Amino acid sequence: MKFYSDKMNLNIKDAVGYLTFKELEKYPFINHAFSTRLGGVSKGPYKSMNLRFNCDDERGNVLENYKIFCNAAGFDYNSLVLTDQTHTCNIRKVTKQDMGIGLIKPQNKFDVDGLITNEVGVTLVTFHADCVPIFIIDKVKRVIALLHAGWKGTVNGIASNAINIMKSEYGCNAEDIVCGIGPSISKCCYEVSEDVFNKFTNIPNINVEDIYYVGENGKHFLDLNNTNKLILKSEGVKEENIFISDLCTRCNHDLLISHRKTGAIRGVMAAMMCIRD
Ligand SMILES: [Zn+2]
Repeated sequence: MKFYSDKMNLNIKDAVGYLTFKELEKYPFINHAFSTRLGGVSKGPYKSMNLRFNCDDERGNVLENYKIFCNAAGFDYNSLVLTDQTHTCNIRKVTKQDMGIGLIKPQNKFDVDGLITNEVGVTLVTFHADCVPIFIIDKVKRVIALLHAGWKGTVNGIASNAINIMKSEYGCNAEDIVCGIGPSISKCCYEVSEDVFNKFTNIPNINVEDIYYVGENGKHFLDLNNTNKLILKSEGVKEENIFISDLCTRCNHDLLISHRKTGAIRGVMAAMMCIRD
């Protein structure tokens, strides 16, 4: 497997591979990671680091993968809060009381695609297999948010929601906010239907010419990463503080999991982030 990225490091620890944004590593008060296929115990189409429950992979394997991943990437297994993603723009503020939800505590009525906290040691977790992960950090107020943005979350503005909650409920200033976007399916591979494309033509403050091109096959290809970047910019986040991963999940399917590449019988990767003790 070849790996090359200008934007992300591939860290290997105890055979577990996880990605970190080079630019986010400059903020040591946070720990962040994006999982890869490497280092888990799952077999077959879930090989090997599958972090998805509710599939044909054995629950015991998935739990073991969480333990292995947390050990390697430096997260406390008991501190995880998992989303129950349904392509909404719902973002939930979480605290120490929520730690364990979705893993060691039940996940009742937890219909959210984004999590936010300012509490030390609470690990936010979202899931991805082409959809865009967005890591958001206020480096001054020490508030973090983690989002799952597929095309629905992107066009409906989950990124705007997050910045607005950070401003209104945590007193954040947009100029202090730093964001990492991806890895996700990139414009090289994200062909969409006319229906989906049409929804992207009227996003406030965004010129549609900046977020798509027409491929050789005559179909529209969308750039979800850049769409989210432009939405974050329109909320006041500085362009120089927004970093897009250069890894496309579909192009790198030997390392990353891609729904478009493999279909629905597959694992998922997780994004994780916490404020360190
Ligand atoms: Zn690609």
